Amino acid sequence: MRPLNVVVLGATGSIGRQTLDVIDRNPDRFKLFGLTEGVHTSNREAEYLVRGQAGDPEFDDQVESMVRDARCDLVVVAIPGARALQPTLSALEAGKEVALATKEVLVMAGALVMKAAGARGIRPIDSEHSAIWQCLWGEERKNVRGLVITASGGPFWAHPDLDLDQVTVEQALNHPRWSMGPKVTVDSATLMNKGLEMIEAHHLFGIALEAITVVVHPQSVVHSLVEFVDGSLKAQLGRPDMRLPIAVALAYPDRLPDAVPPTSVAELNGLEFYDLDESRFPSVRLARHAALTGGGHPAVLNAANEEAVKDFLAGEIPFSGVVRTVEAALAAFPGCGDDLDEILAADRWARGYVQDLSGSLRAQ
Ligand code: MG
Repeated sequence: MRPLNVVVLGATGSIGRQTLDVIDRNPDRFKLFGLTEGVHTSNREAEYLVRGQAGDPEFDDQVESMVRDARCDLVVVAIPGARALQPTLSALEAGKEVALATKEVLVMAGALVMKAAGARGIRPIDSEHSAIWQCLWGEERKNVRGLVITASGGPFWAHPDLDLDQVTVEQALNHPRWSMGPKVTVDSATLMNKGLEMIEAHHLFGIALEAITVVVHPQSVVHSLVEFVDGSLKAQLGRPDMRLPIAVALAYPDRLPDAVPPTSVAELNGLEFYDLDESRFPSVRLARHAALTGGGHPAVLNAANEEAVKDFLAGEIPFSGVVRTVEAALAAFPGCGDDLDEILAADRWARGYVQDLSGSLRAQ
């Protein structure tokens, strides 16, 4: 069998670089067919090398040709944020397998994306969703009672006396378990990452939002769980290492030998699980509410969060201002339908809303 031709969208980010590592270590199975690079360069050779930013028309045209090329087998989507939506839809419409790291795509337009994926589905790279996916292999959906998504809790969860108005960007970027890009690291600290992941899981696996819970599990060894109607729980465990979910997504339904170092049972002492305090960390509640309301609300949640995280990283708003901004945007949003144009308009509305809000704060 010839190696799979893999396109990596977002090759110079954290997930992109680890994907290239998995490809390099398995040359008999995978060939780097094409890639996109943002600010940094990877010195890679491939059939397609697209440099620049998603949203720039020339970049978008080249990505379009690359993911629709008949020789491309699998597209890894690791461009951060809402800009990954259009290339994901293009790859799916062209009949490609898609391995998705960018949860924002499903948060914004989950119903449209899953419809475009059809029976083929999407291969999740998010570690929690990879865990759930693995637990569901060979299981019938009617036998699933619910999903339990684990959260590390981020850097602030274990410090209940810390004033979240005072924490610094440096503190927020200091994640205790996972090494990730700045956007998802801040999302982990606000717990918005779990709100987004709840909506992501709802679309990926067709499970009702009310049947998905979040528990804090500081060790990040149990990556998530599935509860079945007979009372059984299945979990997937391993070290926190994103190369595992990447390897699972690339090699499905096979498994890559030695994708990561083995997890020894002796390391599993003292696993802890705690309920999430939704009054201190209201992100999951906000996300659930936005997804239940539907229409453009999840897109507003996502876009307002992206903009507010940028403002926080730029030192313009306090840490707790991120979630307050998202809440304000959701409350002000007049609502819309759920076709692609309306969702994209909701995304733009939310970005404008947050920019106006931070502009008026700066003017004070
Ligand atoms: Mg995750």
